[in-house]
Amino acid sequence: MTCDNLQTIQQNIARAAGGSGRTADSIQLVAVSKRKDIEVIKQAVSCGQHVFGENYLQEAEQKITLLKNENLCWHFIGHLQSNKARLAAELFDVIETVDRIKIARALDRHAGALDKELRIFIQVNIGREKQKHGVLPEDAENLLKLINRETELKILGLMGMPPHTSDPEAGRSYFREMKKLSDQLAQKKLFADNNAVQLSMGMSADYAIAIEEGATLVRVGTALFGRRE
Ligand SMILES: *Cc1c(COP(=O)(O)O)cnc(C)c1O
Repeated sequence: MTCDNLQTIQQNIARAAGGSGRTADSIQLVAVSKRKDIEVIKQAVSCGQHVFGENYLQEAEQKITLLKNENLCWHFIGHLQSNKARLAAELFDVIETVDRIKIARALDRHAGALDKELRIFIQVNIGREKQKHGVLPEDAENLLKLINRETELKILGLMGMPPHTSDPEAGRSYFREMKKLSDQLAQKKLFADNNAVQLSMGMSADYAIAIEEGATLVRVGTALFGRRE
């Protein structure tokens, strides 16, 4: 990993943001450091990156504990089981993969016990894929209402991934649908800040397209750190 990679990605982000009438600082880059070791993360920190995403709790626990003094912001982007909610609530600042009321209740209970304000995204299964997690688009409204009614969790926005293909352009219509859904839910005042709803979408292959379609947060691993084994 070099600072050049980071700079290139930031330039691409700025260009895509400009194309959708926004500025680079309205887009957050989450550096996905799963299966990369701590030295690589430290390099990224030295290049100025402070927000990281991790998928696996065990692995993340080590890294987050060892890097405690760096004051980094950690996003959980993997699938979360409710029996792991306590550890997730303890380690992470933002949980991007809340997709059912059960996990929201568990996170809320543990965050409450820790006196921690936990921020979340609702993961939407925008491609309606059987093998993917996430709430179905048509069920999102009900889930947001339940979470708002029953928990103190702060819902920042929606997170989603289009079906995997080799053509990045294929994701565009799904990103557009995510944006439309988030606008509809914002109109119903279901987010913590309905004037600044966040949309976490876009990865190494398609983050520029996602930004053109309204992403405010992109999760980039490979383009930043190289391929994972
Ligand atoms: C691994 C992962 C990423 C990063 O993917 P790259 O293609 O390496 O950029 C982003 N989001 C989620 C949810 C992931 O699991």
